[in-house]
Amino acid sequence: MSVLLWLVLVTAPRAPAPQAVLITTPRGETSVPVTTERGTAAVAAPRLGPPLGLTVALDGSRVTVSLSGVVFVFQLGAPFVRAGGVVYGLVGEPYVARDTVFLPLHWLADCVPRAVGGRYRWEPAPGGDTGRLVELPIASPVTATPPPTPPTSSTAPVLPPSPASAPNPITGLRLRHGVVIDPGHGGVDPGNPGRYFPGRLVEKDITLAIGRLLRAELTRRAIVATLTRSTDTLIDLADRGALCKAACDLFVSIHVNAMPDGRRADRVSGVETYFLSDAKTEDQQRVAQMENEAISFETGTSSAATGPLGFILRDLQVNEYLRESAQLAQLVQDSAARIHPGGDRGVQQAGFTVLTTARRPAILVETGFATNRTDGAFLASSLGQHKIASAIADGIVAYLLELERKRAVAAPARGR
Ligand SMILES: [Zn+2]
Repeated sequence: MSVLLWLVLVTAPRAPAPQAVLITTPRGETSVPVTTERGTAAVAAPRLGPPLGLTVALDGSRVTVSLSGVVFVFQLGAPFVRAGGVVYGLVGEPYVARDTVFLPLHWLADCVPRAVGGRYRWEPAPGGDTGRLVELPIASPVTATPPPTPPTSSTAPVLPPSPASAPNPITGLRLRHGVVIDPGHGGVDPGNPGRYFPGRLVEKDITLAIGRLLRAELTRRAIVATLTRSTDTLIDLADRGALCKAACDLFVSIHVNAMPDGRRADRVSGVETYFLSDAKTEDQQRVAQMENEAISFETGTSSAATGPLGFILRDLQVNEYLRESAQLAQLVQDSAARIHPGGDRGVQQAGFTVLTTARRPAILVETGFATNRTDGAFLASSLGQHKIASAIADGIVAYLLELERKRAVAAPARGR
């Protein structure tokens, strides 16, 4: 016997959504209609263009909206938006209808005032049937945004990049940079047991020692370095990457590799550097699985790396920073391979949970094999730890120099 279920959808008239929003700027006032066709209040992005000076670009499923120098990145159908390294949850999802991108009203009412510091204010109307976004006049130079280049200036001399301070005598870097260093494992999670580490040393001790030295090396190079852990404690994987947002240029996680038991186990040696992508080989799969197992030690308080949000965050990290992360990985790998006794195992890619929540380019360095006698002795020695920390720092500086060069080239256009 079969049972037919008829599902009846009743769309109860709930609290009426605003019919229109008023955009009030020093240049005038504009009314923009609000639609509720997909169940949540939304505004057609192009309608916001003229009053707010906002630009919209659709690339595949990705919507990029630029407003007052802040870039908002949406994914169609996803209730999140990323701006300035922060992910904001949205009530409703962006969608495309009739060749027009619709953005949740919640973004305008809530995210814009939060993300574009002090520039906008949302005023809900008393009756709830309309709201007003107010653009505040620029009173004092809150943010020193350079004036836009006139459109006719294609032959004008190229402007120098924003405040060109004297380069640092050690690194040649001109700007202030921040790095988050993540010593792998910790606390109840020892990491791999380290067959060739002396005494009772395990992976978590080596990663912490190298992490601290790397912080010192970066500090010496005038780079602001933060550790995800500076003691023997366990931090959830998702929380580690999440420390790298606004004032952070990149995230680097430090680990020690290990081969599974077998006849050839102790012959494998060397350093390899990973960025986040799908594993292409069994070996990459093995390393990601080994490092992701740290999650089994977690208490379950952090949920950012699982479920739909985890998927979105991973997608953002892969789409947004793939090229930069791969380049960072290459520069760090080149530098580390030069000093490593175990050899160069190259740049690799795999699905590391710890890299998914970083809102900047992110890499994971497997500094050598605890299952190899030479690597084990190197990583456990003070000299070896200093060498590897210094080499990673040099690779990071090489990447930041490249980043500054690219920004200087891009600065006159100032598209984003
Ligand atoms: Zn590890």
